Amino acid sequence: MMDLKLLGCGGTQPLPGRALSALGVTVGGRSLLIDCGEGTQTACRRWGLSMVKIDAILLTHYHGDHIFGLPGLWQTMAALGRTAPLTVAGPPGLEAVLAPFLQLAGPLPFALVPAIMTPDHSQLALLGGTVEGFRCEHRVPCCGYAFTLPRARRFDPARAAAAGIPRQLWGTLQRGQAAGGFSPDQVLGPPRRGLRLVYATDTRPCDALQKAAQGADLLCMDATYADDADLDKASLYGHATCREAGALAAAAGVRRLWLTHYSAAVTDPADGLAAARALFPAAQAGEDGLCLTLHFDKDNQ
Ligand SMILES: [Zn+2]
Ligand SMILES: [Zn+2]
Repeated sequence: MMDLKLLGCGGTQPLPGRALSALGVTVGGRSLLIDCGEGTQTACRRWGLSMVKIDAILLTHYHGDHIFGLPGLWQTMAALGRTAPLTVAGPPGLEAVLAPFLQLAGPLPFALVPAIMTPDHSQLALLGGTVEGFRCEHRVPCCGYAFTLPRARRFDPARAAAAGIPRQLWGTLQRGQAAGGFSPDQVLGPPRRGLRLVYATDTRPCDALQKAAQGADLLCMDATYADDADLDKASLYGHATCREAGALAAAAGVRRLWLTHYSAAVTDPADGLAAARALFPAAQAGEDGLCLTLHFDKDNQ
């Protein structure tokens, strides 16, 4: 099970009714935070994402609307008594961004563990799953994130008993490890589909994103502009229109699409939704506090 909370859906500037784009991902009581613009800590409180339970912050890129909330969030984490190390991941250039923020925030009672996402190092093990970084197309180096939560194969006690496998070995086999000369394949069912979330701001539609989003349960994607009349601007500034987000979701065969990172000129998140839905009917307009719980497929027990 994976809980997703859209903490904000705005781009560039926070507005009174629309926080900057950020997403909280929670599995088993621990969380990841994707991006941390000005005001993200307030959005965490507003929408119930516990700041002490954040294991890692994944930064897409270093434009201010995605990072200016870091020193304030760290100070609040410190005030809340955090001592556990905090992973902060992002594309190359991360250390140069963290250093001045750390100086501003002052000494912290927990360590920051930088994880630079490059083509050679694009995976992190977090929350019992895997985070993979992929390259987005923006005006500066930008990293999209795919988080996959695997699902264990089903253990069949009847087969284990029939094969005469001692009960004390069952747990090990269930975890997929061989034990006492028995193989997990003797007692486990076929591989089962896990859950996959893909987050991509700020970006043009691009091949790497389409590939990463293939079959995802949820794609949360840049939809800065509501109207294709702004396509030139989208191209110039490295963003996408709502229609483009719908087109990419359809091409990638995702199950759900959330539109996010709206320009301040988009006064109603419903603007542009029709254009996205024309190509991808399950598209949803992002709004602050939008949440979703993903469950493993029921028809694949
Ligand atoms: Zn942005
Ligand atoms: Zn940007």
